[in-house]
Amino acid sequence: MLTAEELSMLRKAGETAAAARSLGMDMVREGVKLYDVAQEVEGYIRGKGCGLAFPCNISVNEIAAHYTPSVNDKSVFEAGDVVKVDCGAEVGGFVGDTAGTVEVGTKRHTALIEASKRARDTVAEIVGAGTPICEIGRVVEMCMHQGGFKPIRNLCGHEIKPYNLHAGVSIPNYHNGDSDKLTSGMVVAIEPFATNGEGIVLNGPLGNIVRIQRERKLADPKAQEFFDYAKGEFKTFPFCARSCDFPDAERHVRTLIRHGVLTGYPQFIEARKGMVSQHEHTFYIAGERAEVTTLP
Ligand code: MN
Ligand code: MN
Repeated sequence: MLTAEELSMLRKAGETAAAARSLGMDMVREGVKLYDVAQEVEGYIRGKGCGLAFPCNISVNEIAAHYTPSVNDKSVFEAGDVVKVDCGAEVGGFVGDTAGTVEVGTKRHTALIEASKRARDTVAEIVGAGTPICEIGRVVEMCMHQGGFKPIRNLCGHEIKPYNLHAGVSIPNYHNGDSDKLTSGMVVAIEPFATNGEGIVLNGPLGNIVRIQRERKLADPKAQEFFDYAKGEFKTFPFCARSCDFPDAERHVRTLIRHGVLTGYPQFIEARKGMVSQHEHTFYIAGERAEVTTLP
């Protein structure tokens, strides 16, 4: 179990991520730049004295996850877009990870968006110490099918450990037969994805998000200075050049990828270009009922 001090860090990270998510979702309108939403969300998290647990993901339509706008991204939301805002705050390594989905201007995908929301919120009713992991998947899948949609089978929720965003157990979005149970003291993110497509994502182009893969001495002192900055600022967490307060960060990131020091995350794209919605909360498993740290 977490100490009182650790729990207060986890709660602060959760509250901050939740408020940042709401702020970001409220900004999503026709003509608004993806860049401006990402900057606002991350600025809010940092302004509260938290670190970024990962760059604000803004994934549109068939892109399920792992896109964050680059510094030069001029793209704007268009009417009919289905937009996932997924953000994370960090306090002393404790993380709040949360996401929601908005449709821009139209109401063609209300049922899709409701399906992932209902799945997450129905699961919240049963999550606690002793809940079998496959039971969460079963409930998610059931909620998706009720709405006439599919869960994305190869995207999972995950345990979160200090300074480790994807640690330990994976929480499937379908009944996968995993009879392991959640135990007290765990922190888990549960994130159902709904689609009207195939129910599988494929790797697409890189989405501007990177993490440290292998640390080694760099010949170029500026590149080394950038690496030291990024490691100090983001620790073990994923990050992107846009969030770096460092000159020429985009160029340094490219250099470090080339040297194998950083590795980039591909975007996850729905296999049949189906629309995708996502809802996510972070849970602290303490007894029979878990505490949701990223409410509302
Ligand atoms: Mn997330
Ligand atoms: Mn997550």
